[in-house]
Amino acid sequence: MKKNTFGPVLGCQICGAKDLQPVLSLGHQPIVQEYLTEEALHEPEVTYPLNLVRCPICNLLQIDYIPEPAKVFPPNYPYRTGLTNMLVRNFRELSDVLFRDYHFEKGDLIIDIGSNDGTLLQGFKDKGMKVLGVEPTGAAKVANRNKISTIEDFFSDAIVSKILKKYGKAHIITCTNAFAHINDAKGLAKNVAKLMDKNSVFVSESQYLLDIIKKLEFDTIYHEHLRFYALKPLIRLLGDAGLSVVDAERISAAGGSIRVYARKGKLPSSKRVKDLIAEEEKVGLYDTKTLIAFAKKIYTAKNDLLTILLKCKKEGARIAGLTSSARSNTLLGFSKINETILDYACEKNGSPKIGLYTPGTHIPVVDEARLLEDQPEYALVLSWHIGEELMKKTKAAGYIGKFIMPLPIPRIVN
Ligand SMILES: [Zn+2]
Repeated sequence: MKKNTFGPVLGCQICGAKDLQPVLSLGHQPIVQEYLTEEALHEPEVTYPLNLVRCPICNLLQIDYIPEPAKVFPPNYPYRTGLTNMLVRNFRELSDVLFRDYHFEKGDLIIDIGSNDGTLLQGFKDKGMKVLGVEPTGAAKVANRNKISTIEDFFSDAIVSKILKKYGKAHIITCTNAFAHINDAKGLAKNVAKLMDKNSVFVSESQYLLDIIKKLEFDTIYHEHLRFYALKPLIRLLGDAGLSVVDAERISAAGGSIRVYARKGKLPSSKRVKDLIAEEEKVGLYDTKTLIAFAKKIYTAKNDLLTILLKCKKEGARIAGLTSSARSNTLLGFSKINETILDYACEKNGSPKIGLYTPGTHIPVVDEARLLEDQPEYALVLSWHIGEELMKKTKAAGYIGKFIMPLPIPRIVN
């Protein structure tokens, strides 16, 4: 029988080491995309431990409890890649890079793991490639409706066998913003390798630990993200599956990500890879002291933010949230910012979250038009990683109140 790959993490997800070191505890949190109906507010809510631990052997930073994947990525999972302009641009650029540097031809096969609504594959289809997506959530239906052939399932041994039988090996395999999301990291890497031959290239994009530490982006820690990659553990994970990291680059996606190119066999890595590892070492990513300092800064920021919010409430001010992104639920849940502090959180017109309540903190989600009607005294910039852009846009739309930036240093912005 196959062992469970969810539940408490008893050994490092990459190397199996047992004595994982605690770095940060964010308490018990619900699944960030599990928005509640009004009726569900009165029912018990399921939460899971959310702790960050470090492997002393391979240096992987990881969470220590993995909920059942079907709970984290249910068929009604609300996220759609195509709605995020930044990602649409990123994927177009990726297809240009691969065509320029890795010499693919029309008719070659690309497989995208965690393909969501097919936004990435569209760019390759436009270039004449054969495309195939694998996606467990309902976003697969959107892709298929748009004629992007997509298997609606988790990327598993069985699916890989099916793909090999029907399509054969792939020329390009991509896994963008999903390579840290799939449990059983070793099985995932092995399955990727099975789909490759010596001419294939595997490209993964994941949030980069260097950015998370430097910018205090702890709100990207939630149960979808099982591993927080720096290059050394990533090289080890792919190496164990027979792949070599030949190149890597930093990209701006998701508040700062690392794009890694890997090929089959033992191959040298580029200067860019070596330079990035040198920078990681200089910043202290592989040093427990750096990680403990990171955790301390988070606890301080949380307390400072609460002090600002409670002072505003004491003065009788109204505070709204901007916007109700998945990651904002880590910030709210960990800081215990609930419906007694935020009157509501705003989402773009058409968002499926409107009319529902934030998981754990029970803040009503409303159409952003409400902010301009009500003009609350403060708007808490929950999507602070795109904060500058968001504040500019909200001001231009007619909001006259003040903004509160929650991170990295909580402050009121006039
Ligand atoms: Zn390890």
